[in-house]
Amino acid sequence: MSNLIDGKIVSAAVKDRVKAEVAELKEKGISVGLAVILVGEDPASKIYVANKKKACEDLGIKSFEYVLPADTTQEQLLSLINTLNQEKNVNGILCQLPLPKGLDDQTVINAISAQKDVDAFHPANVGKIMIGDYDFVPCTPAGVMEMLKYYDISPEGKECVVIGRSNIVGKPMSMLLLHKNGTVTTCHSRTVDLKEVCLRADILVAAVGKAKFVTADMVKPGAVVIDVGMNRADGKLCGDVDFDTVKEKASYITPVPGGVGPMTIAMLMQNTLTAAKKQNGLI
Ligand code: NAP
Repeated sequence: MSNLIDGKIVSAAVKDRVKAEVAELKEKGISVGLAVILVGEDPASKIYVANKKKACEDLGIKSFEYVLPADTTQEQLLSLINTLNQEKNVNGILCQLPLPKGLDDQTVINAISAQKDVDAFHPANVGKIMIGDYDFVPCTPAGVMEMLKYYDISPEGKECVVIGRSNIVGKPMSMLLLHKNGTVTTCHSRTVDLKEVCLRADILVAAVGKAKFVTADMVKPGAVVIDVGMNRADGKLCGDVDFDTVKEKASYITPVPGGVGPMTIAMLMQNTLTAAKKQNGLI
């Protein structure tokens, strides 16, 4: 039976830290602001944006919300981003992805100033992560690293296996584990003998997007299992890991919900604070 890695506890600790620092900055006359752009009517995106706004309010961060219709043109969106890039009260800019048809995600990401790119998706920030000299880290992998740190789990010298190679989760996740001296294997849909690779893992991160994909026979006894997945099965939210069986083999495991999910917004708040500190010459 494994120990639970509780994302609610760890995210609350991160948010408390951010809230205290935001208050300190306010005393010095510095405000912290995040602009969130939502284009279209995607229900999941609407919920994410509402949650981000609420987190800003809770922590004393100003949120500027821009809700644009689905037929917004690329030129209109780029023009808004250009204005926000120059707006002093806006320290971070986030454009909720995926964008509706007709708008190109990467063009929009490239337009956001790298100094305000709190999602860390801009090529300049992606490159910095590769080098290991970064200010912003994509929020979900950063959240995973924060959870490992909180529970005193060091990747150093460990076999780390990441299932998934997306730009927002899998690749940066692998890179962060590598920076902490893990021996990292990144798996994807063409990986041969996935089960054998997973069985080597001391730390196994699942970012596949398939409900209950990781089963107990893929997990080494005593492994740390991190479930990034957010899927719907039988009307319920569930992860990429078959929690009920894997928890009997793992030493530590994250639940879904209540695991990696709450960490993502907490790390976004931390990145926004970092942006404000950098832009005010405090770091
Ligand atoms: P994605 O872009 O769809 O990437 C999925 C990855 O899984 C791809 O690299 C794919 O390989 C790999 N894959 C698919 N089927 C596989 C198989 N049978 N065997 C091995 N690898 C396989 O998804 P994502 O954006 O990274 O997200 C992954 C999951 O995390 C989703 O459930 C998403 O909802 C969740 N998520 C959660 C949070 C959070 O805050 N908790 C944040 C972001 C994402 P190929 O590259 O070969 O196609």
